Amino acid sequence: MQRYPDIWTLQHRASSSYVGPTVSVVRPPVGLIWELGHRDTRTSQKRKPLKVEDEAPGAALKPLVFRVDEGTPRVVQSVLLERGWDKFDEQHQDMEDWNLYWRNSSFRMAEHVNVKPWQRLNHHPGTTTLTRKDCLAKHLAHMRRLYGETLYEFTPLTFIIPNDYTKFIAEYFKEKQVLGTKPTYWICKPAELSRGRGIIVFSDIRDLIFNGTYVVQKYICNPFLVGRYKCDLRIYVCVMGFKPLTIYVYREGLVRFATEKFDLGNLKDSYAHLTNSSINKSGASYQKIKEVVGQGCKWTLSRFFSYLRNWDVDDLLLWRKINNMVILTVLAMAPSVPIAYNCFELFGFDILIDDNLKPWLLEVNYSPALSLDCSTDVSVKRSLVHDIIELIYLNGLRREEKKCSRASPGSSKVSFARGEKCELRTAPDPRPYVSLMQFASRKCSNTNPAVQRANNVCPKHTRTSLLREMMTRQRILLTREAAKSKPRFKAWHAPRKVLSPYTSGAQSQPHRTKGPVGVLPETAYAPNDHAGNFVLIFPFNEATFGASRNGLNIKRIIQELQKLINKQLSRGKN
Ligand code: ADP
Repeated sequence: MQRYPDIWTLQHRASSSYVGPTVSVVRPPVGLIWELGHRDTRTSQKRKPLKVEDEAPGAALKPLVFRVDEGTPRVVQSVLLERGWDKFDEQHQDMEDWNLYWRNSSFRMAEHVNVKPWQRLNHHPGTTTLTRKDCLAKHLAHMRRLYGETLYEFTPLTFIIPNDYTKFIAEYFKEKQVLGTKPTYWICKPAELSRGRGIIVFSDIRDLIFNGTYVVQKYICNPFLVGRYKCDLRIYVCVMGFKPLTIYVYREGLVRFATEKFDLGNLKDSYAHLTNSSINKSGASYQKIKEVVGQGCKWTLSRFFSYLRNWDVDDLLLWRKINNMVILTVLAMAPSVPIAYNCFELFGFDILIDDNLKPWLLEVNYSPALSLDCSTDVSVKRSLVHDIIELIYLNGLRREEKKCSRASPGSSKVSFARGEKCELRTAPDPRPYVSLMQFASRKCSNTNPAVQRANNVCPKHTRTSLLREMMTRQRILLTREAAKSKPRFKAWHAPRKVLSPYTSGAQSQPHRTKGPVGVLPETAYAPNDHAGNFVLIFPFNEATFGASRNGLNIKRIIQELQKLINKQLSRGKN
């Protein structure tokens, strides 16, 4: 396999025998000051932590090390190997000699407590409370009670049974009375299962059978159809920290189709009513070329958004609604999540759009599937993993060194500009971009016509110019910060400022291991606005930045969000 190592990997030193400055070295997050505390396996001695200034340029450096288990998606391993990482070898390496542990299942609290400053875990403790269907329903119901129906009306009416059985029956008959002879539609889903297992769609209460904890939900019977097929969106969300709360959304994703035409006359046909690809890939029509949808059962999100644009849909408004929904959902769980650093969480949000273009949250997935079942999966998920790695370093700067890097995807510069405090400034376009990822691999030649086309689509910044721009900015900022210590949120006002909470932290606390595990200072700088296709959606202005630093002031955040939503809606109307 051809490798194209990260700059960071190249600068990961094997020897500590020299001292010299490397001002231009782009630092990873504080929790990832890997070489600083990296053990030298030859001597089994923990190296003396080095300061940023201690680094010498051009040193021969050790690759970073990832740890996986049997359940880790293969694409994670292949991306990391491709980036020049080494796989952790339990037999021959010290138990602490790894930098990223990625697995599907959660980590024990002890593993979180013992995580070292140079290590990262791909799960945050306590996040399963959002991803069990009944827990999600409870959290959202709680928020609805506290902050109002209107803000949290993006989930279908939900009952947890058996607990809410009586309430459900009352609602069922109330609705039947209102509708008269017209049927009502419901969906019943096991609270703990995934991939469409055990789900029934029903109209007649006599068809409701349950044995265990289930959620019964209003069935969205007017979905937005493509061709005549139902679909839902898989939106990837990466929470880089709950304290302070930092949420990124991925501008590419999947649209998953049912493979039989939507038909309310036949509720038993899972291929028409459920959009899970685990179900539809075994459907009789999976391989058929279906009306508008084509072959298979997946599109990229960007393809779906261009399809919407062709129908004159306000796709930007839709995308903003989705982002708001993500923030509101994560806010619902954030207070119950324990403090832990050096970890992140990738969620898969399942969102259904109805024929009024209203997005509905169906569920939030823990360890969203990263299996590669088709070419759409390959293009989306490989890039996703690359961008997660970028995200856990710094703003994707290391990719500059790659010989064949991907074209710059729409240059997602999101920052909080003067005069637009309550609005994400997204230049030029925050929506899912016109897909550049139709390639099975990022290893692509510049002479490839597809790459040239892609470059033409998104020519705003080249990687080189971006890198130069960002490095210059960072150097200026670091110099300025050293000269004066202003309250940190002041940095918010600077136009196009891309501050890293990590760079400054690296200098002040290179190897803190005490206290709550991890190293991210509570009063950190504003997080990076993007990494690859991940764009920062929270905090989204100075007020939310402040309200999420020292404890989470949800009330304040909700006020800001409400203002933002009102503004977006009034713009949408004009
Ligand atoms: P699972 O975890 O088993 O995938 P989901 O809640 O994601 O469970 O539901 C599976 C599929 O069922 C969704 O992808 C969607 O197509 C359909 N679905 C779920 N809830 C609803 C609903 N309330 N209205 C319409 N369709 C739904």
